[in-house]
Amino acid sequence: MRAARMSDAPCPKPWIDAIHAYVPGKSAADDGRPLVKLSANENPLGSSPAALIARAAAQIPSLYPDGDSTALREAIGRVHGIDPALIVMGTGSGELLHTATGAFAGPGDEVLYSQYAFSLYEIVTRRCGASPVEATASDYANDVDALLAAVTERTRVVLLANPNNPTGTFLPRAEIARLHAGLPPAVLLVLDQAYAEYVDPADDDGSLDLAARCGNVLVTRTFSKAYGLAGERVGWGTGAAPLVGVLNRIRGAFNVSNTAQAAALAALGDQVFVTHSRQHNAAERARFVAAVETLGNHGLRAVPSEANFVLVLFEGKLTAEAAYHGLANRGYITRWLPSQGLAHGLRITIGKRADMDAIAAILRDLAAAA
Ligand SMILES: *Cc1c(COP(=O)(O)O)cnc(C)c1O
Repeated sequence: MRAARMSDAPCPKPWIDAIHAYVPGKSAADDGRPLVKLSANENPLGSSPAALIARAAAQIPSLYPDGDSTALREAIGRVHGIDPALIVMGTGSGELLHTATGAFAGPGDEVLYSQYAFSLYEIVTRRCGASPVEATASDYANDVDALLAAVTERTRVVLLANPNNPTGTFLPRAEIARLHAGLPPAVLLVLDQAYAEYVDPADDDGSLDLAARCGNVLVTRTFSKAYGLAGERVGWGTGAAPLVGVLNRIRGAFNVSNTAQAAALAALGDQVFVTHSRQHNAAERARFVAAVETLGNHGLRAVPSEANFVLVLFEGKLTAEAAYHGLANRGYITRWLPSQGLAHGLRITIGKRADMDAIAAILRDLAAAA
């Protein structure tokens, strides 16, 4: 029955054993006190009221949802001018990052992304047994030359978030086009646009155009950020028909719930909320960055951001770790990122005006006292 030396417990694949679980942004202090949560890039304005109403009126929970999210894909197609057949839904865009990477890479292959990339990229890479390769960033931004130089004959997938999380940096359209043009056609380029709705429409990076024209580009989008529906877990992707077909074969069968489909459909119809979220974010981000700049003499600086958060670097007496704890003591939870090579950085989600003013004042106090 039993092999002589067989272990007495199921043994995960070695590449699975090497994974460290994703660490979500905290929402409470270590002693349980609730804090204002500016650690997960959620929308401080909440959700569209129309989405809340639609969610409450959604299909009863004893019935399975539409496994093809038909009405939602049609609505996304109308908003973005995309054939709904070329749209694939995910349980958040995270599911699509997993399925796309796993469909095209495996043991012996390489998945390429930048230094300071989204922390999920290492997990999706290791989960399918592929090897992560990191290209050096340039002043905290994705560097197209470094990415292209890191491509080998084993590269199968390139993952790039634009704007990037956790740095907030943004590559313009010409740089995205140059990255794509420099990649072999057999390499899948995944352009993760989780924060696209926060970018000024005049600065569109051209990702959706590339996905419409090229067989090796997948764009992913989410309802978790500007649409304010992080808890509903809805993301979508678009690319060429064969690519979308592959993802549809391996995604979860009923991967977007009844309430999530209803809420996302209504949220799409409320573009006023999205525009307001973008404008609020741009105004508060600019005010906060200006406040950080006044602390430049204390070694603080803000990495230029096009997203709904700012990476603040601490290069003087006040450390990021001390600022993290100092802010938490005064009621604000932010994201300190030592495990991502950013022990000197805090990623701070742009919240409501009064909270951003309070954070700027706390940083001023902490810097003066350091
Ligand atoms: C937040 C975020 C996502 C979105 O994840 P969901 O699974 O859609 O909630 C994707 N990519 C990046 C870079 C993000 O920061």
